[in-house]
Amino acid sequence: QEEILRKPEWLKIKLNTNENYTGLKKLMRTENLHTVCEEARCPNIHECWGTRRTATFMILGDTCTRACRFCAVKTGLPSELDWQEPERVAESVKKMNLKHVVVTMVARDDLKDGGAAVMAETIRAIRRMNPFTTIEVLPSDLQGRYESLKTLMDAKPDILNHNIETVRRLTRRVRARATYDRSLEFLRRAKEMQPEIPTKSSIMVGLGETMEELAEAMDDLRANDVDIVTFGQYLQPTKKHMKVVKYYHPDEFAELKRIALEKGFSHCESGPLVRSSYHADEQVSAAAKA
Ligand code: SF4
Ligand code: SF4
Repeated sequence: QEEILRKPEWLKIKLNTNENYTGLKKLMRTENLHTVCEEARCPNIHECWGTRRTATFMILGDTCTRACRFCAVKTGLPSELDWQEPERVAESVKKMNLKHVVVTMVARDDLKDGGAAVMAETIRAIRRMNPFTTIEVLPSDLQGRYESLKTLMDAKPDILNHNIETVRRLTRRVRARATYDRSLEFLRRAKEMQPEIPTKSSIMVGLGETMEELAEAMDDLRANDVDIVTFGQYLQPTKKHMKVVKYYHPDEFAELKRIALEKGFSHCESGPLVRSSYHADEQVSAAAKA
């Protein structure tokens, strides 16, 4: 019988249920849009939607062609492509009055371009309707098809984010069909295509990696010109998903951040509840100054 780790105090956060996002949530239903904020029941939703005016949209449907062992998104055969989705996302960004928006996607390995054209169109539609909103995209690895990545980069997002998620040794266990080296190459090529666009990657901790391995992952990211890195605690979404091996202490997150800045990243968010899109608005300005 494996021991079940108890959640430490710093993760037992109280959700502020008094605040009301019924209007915005209804907007998502009527527009048939999905946000990671809602679907992952992100604990930061009040801060993000309420105070920071940022949100993470998940486009190209809510069903993924992959099944990563940490991820709660459902797996299966995705729906037809919806070419109206970019416009609806752009309108919602306007209604939500967002300062910064993250657009992510399920992995659409069923499509030749992995969904890059729809994502590029989403960037353009948001830009047209919301010229002052900064846009971050978080695509899949697009199966390493770099002409698809070019489609995306040509639409000029403000940040290109692609997550390596974990250290080299654990990648095969954690991520479905993605490889560590392909993700690094993806990030490097994005930078080569548009050197002025900052690149970013996130790592979940608590899956059994060591500090040395995390330092090595940071070196690998820097060797591929990645500007921004984030670290957050992995939390098991359901019993079927991978177990948490370790809960990192806030001091350890602070130490990771110190190492990251020492290694030359222009910005690092690191903390128990940090998600890939957490405080992303600050990262744009940090990257612009760098
Ligand atoms: Fe949404 Fe990301 Fe904020 Fe969570 S951290 S509420 S997923 S924007
Ligand atoms: Fe989840 Fe992305 Fe993996 Fe799909 S590819 S299962 S959305 S992490």
